[in-house]
Amino acid sequence: MTNLPYTREHEIFRKSVQKFLEIEAAPYFNEWEENKCIPKSFWKKLGEQGYLCPWVDEKYGGLGTDFYYSVILYEEFEKIGSGMSGIGLHSDIVIPYIDSFANEEQKQRWLPLCLNGDSISAIAMTEPGAGSDLAAIKTTARKDGDKYIINGEKTFITNGYTADLVIVVCKTDPHANPPHKGISLFVVEEGTPGFTKGAKLNKIGQHANDTCELIFDNVRVSKDNLLGEEGKGFYYLMQKLQQERLLCALGGIVSAEEMLKMTVSYTTQRSAFGKSISQFQNTQFELAEMATEIKIGRTFVDDLIVKHVNGQNVVTEVSMAKWWVTDLAKKTASRCMQLHGGYGYMEEYEIARKYRDLAVTSIYAGTNEIMKVIIAKNMGL
Ligand SMILES: Cc1cc2nc3c(=O)[nH]c(=O)nc-3n(C[C@H](O)[C@H](O)[C@H](O)COP(=O)(O)OP(=O)(O)OC[C@H]3O[C@@H](n4cnc5c(N)ncnc54)[C@H](O)[C@@H]3O)c2cc1C
Repeated sequence: MTNLPYTREHEIFRKSVQKFLEIEAAPYFNEWEENKCIPKSFWKKLGEQGYLCPWVDEKYGGLGTDFYYSVILYEEFEKIGSGMSGIGLHSDIVIPYIDSFANEEQKQRWLPLCLNGDSISAIAMTEPGAGSDLAAIKTTARKDGDKYIINGEKTFITNGYTADLVIVVCKTDPHANPPHKGISLFVVEEGTPGFTKGAKLNKIGQHANDTCELIFDNVRVSKDNLLGEEGKGFYYLMQKLQQERLLCALGGIVSAEEMLKMTVSYTTQRSAFGKSISQFQNTQFELAEMATEIKIGRTFVDDLIVKHVNGQNVVTEVSMAKWWVTDLAKKTASRCMQLHGGYGYMEEYEIARKYRDLAVTSIYAGTNEIMKVIIAKNMGL
């Protein structure tokens, strides 16, 4: 379905990922959804295969691959279920911060473990009182000699429960003007005194992605846990959000493609009034419209992937894709569920899970309203 410039090596890689997931993920996915988390043993297997952060430099244990390999992994995880997106979050959203902003000693310390599956990562920006308005966060990191003392609470953190290291967005200067200039990023490791995790949150979908609250109560971290420069955290976040939102749009379009396939299959098999449901003009028009919209979305996302690979600044276009494609995926879920009739509302049918899983895609990675705020701002409004 894609038009990306894949080579033979990419295609071979995709086949091996598919085969691996067919054996190691698909049979267990329902169990992971019930347990509300993916077991660490699976992360280890991913690490052994080189499927975690394959793009990282070979000197840290990576394969030094291009972004298309990440796209392939992200797509294949999404096909198993949106509850696997926490793996893509680790590989292509969190670890890029360490790769770009950590010093050599920090990279040697963290990257190999994040690549072999020993360390699962998360990024903690959102707080109970601040999500969209990131500059309003209350978590502080106060300097104390050569240490920082972190206090605050984060919520809705993907991979939070299993995470071994978390990038925590903190205020190092709560009085900075403008406020975003006082933000810094810290890596907090599991087991650091004062760092605790709440229970796994009870979400309506994406169950296999564990999500939880993180509490920081006088957590003392060394200055060696500061990522990059103090006060630059907000700029670092802005630099990395393009890739995060692009992957979010990619997840949306892959899900939409999958839902269309399953609905074509269902409507050709199910009959009513002596013919298959797919013979009704309404069904055909619905499927034809969805196929058209999905094709438009795929073309847009693929174009942005190529531009992203080429190093272009496509923040505005990625914001467009994030809101438009995730909205499309949610609408597609609803239309496909309708074409499944009552069975579509039953848990045994994949479309029911997709309907629940996709609901959040317009909320996380920056809400769709915030995407429009960014677009409008970049239009000079
Ligand atoms: C399943 C899940 C996983 C998540 N994973 C992570 C994670 O790993 N790390 C992390 O840090 N966060 C994570 N989040 C948090 C997520 O990024 C936030 O929920 C999101 O940014 C919105 O923030 P909020 O919930 O505080 O909503 P609010 O900011 O309170 O927004 C509420 C509503 O007001 C609207 N709104 C706010 N400001 C404006 C504005 N200026 N103009 C127009 N409308 C506006 C919003 O669009 C939204 O509709 C996750 C959330 C969920 C549900």
